[in-house]
Amino acid sequence: MVNDTTLLLGLDGVAVTKVVAAGEGSQEGPVVHLATADERARCCPQCGVAAVRMKEWVTTRPRDLPVAGRRCGLRWRKRRWCCDQASCPRQTFTEQVPQIPARSRLTVRLRQATGAAVGDGGRTVIQSARDHGVSWPIVSAAFTEHARRVLPAQPETVTVLGIDEVRRGRARWVLEEATGTWTTAVDRWHTGFVDLSGEQGLLGQVEGRTIAAVTGWLNERDASWRRQVAFVAIDMCTIFKSAVRAVLPHATLVVDHFHVVQLANQALTEVRRRVTVQIRGRRGRKGNREWELRNRLTRSAARMHGSQLDPMVDDLQALPVRLGRPILAAWNAKEDLLDLLALARTHPDRSVIADRLFRFYDRCAASGLPELERLATTIDTWWPEILAFIRTGITNAGSEGTNRVIKTTARDAYGFRNPENQRLRTRCATTRRGRGHLNLGYSAGISLRRSINEEGASDLR
Ligand SMILES: [Zn+2]
Repeated sequence: MVNDTTLLLGLDGVAVTKVVAAGEGSQEGPVVHLATADERARCCPQCGVAAVRMKEWVTTRPRDLPVAGRRCGLRWRKRRWCCDQASCPRQTFTEQVPQIPARSRLTVRLRQATGAAVGDGGRTVIQSARDHGVSWPIVSAAFTEHARRVLPAQPETVTVLGIDEVRRGRARWVLEEATGTWTTAVDRWHTGFVDLSGEQGLLGQVEGRTIAAVTGWLNERDASWRRQVAFVAIDMCTIFKSAVRAVLPHATLVVDHFHVVQLANQALTEVRRRVTVQIRGRRGRKGNREWELRNRLTRSAARMHGSQLDPMVDDLQALPVRLGRPILAAWNAKEDLLDLLALARTHPDRSVIADRLFRFYDRCAASGLPELERLATTIDTWWPEILAFIRTGITNAGSEGTNRVIKTTARDAYGFRNPENQRLRTRCATTRRGRGHLNLGYSAGISLRRSINEEGASDLR
């Protein structure tokens, strides 16, 4: 004989006896009076035997989620029982139900909602606290509990793994009194592991960007997980390269073309700055054509309109030879490299790749510019990984996207003091898609429309 109000409240273990409308000027909203509706509530928490002798009535005021958008005051009138078991040390106890444990001032569902708002809803801790009318520490603890419950302890297998570094706040150092040396207490860098082939998002984060940090995380996975990783996308970073070589020797390393292009643009800018200083005796400024073209130079020619591209080349050729020629050579070398990278995902013939690579090396060697020679050496060092990119087209863009979420989370929180909390928050924020918390409005819309359609169909029948 459950009444309608009890059904509406939906709080297991208690029944609504009456609802008193809020008085004039009341802060609390309607007051819902509750009675115990669970036989197990009278069992002693220590010995488990149901009590028969009542001591007194007590009323508690647990806080709960709003009902129909209004926050309600709950009044649970419950009994204090005496435990008469001779062997039991407990003398009295008050009733409790799973949703409202003894001495708890919040219902379990309210506590969980505050944590879920942070972990799944993308709220900050302080905003979830305001929304639910509880304090910051309660939400923070509820979030940690929620994260431990919803995050998988071990990631599912991945085919393409992305490794990337992200800067977190300031580094902290501690002085070791005995040796007089400083050691890192908190590293300013985090290394993240991202599922680039599936929907798992950020698989994990470790502190620092050392070989030990990376191999440490990879070694925590079991051997079959490590065997499944076929490709690893990294920046042009020798630390990650060595770490992956050591732990995942079978996996193909791929470097992101973005970093290759960045390197070529850096070389081009260095050439421009050096020759400007050599020829003009100062840094470039307004009125110097090569300085005015500095942004256009680093743009990809393939993405430029002919009306911009042709005058740019003409302008460079019109500059004094010792100024214009090196810049044009560096620009051509950069464009050669872009042409080579543009072969990605086109299933190019081996000879086409070889031709374009040769053209790039040849241009660098013929220029006699130290910046281009260094660029060519770097490309040569990383050639197997760049070739893997051209063959597979795998990029680390997924990791970079994850980094954006990480940084947004950190800014929203005005920074984190505790790196462990930061990693937990970051993992929750970056795995929301995989855990099904994004596009909820869309899927809810679909199910709503479906139910309307079904209703409509039954009306027709
Ligand atoms: Zn007992």
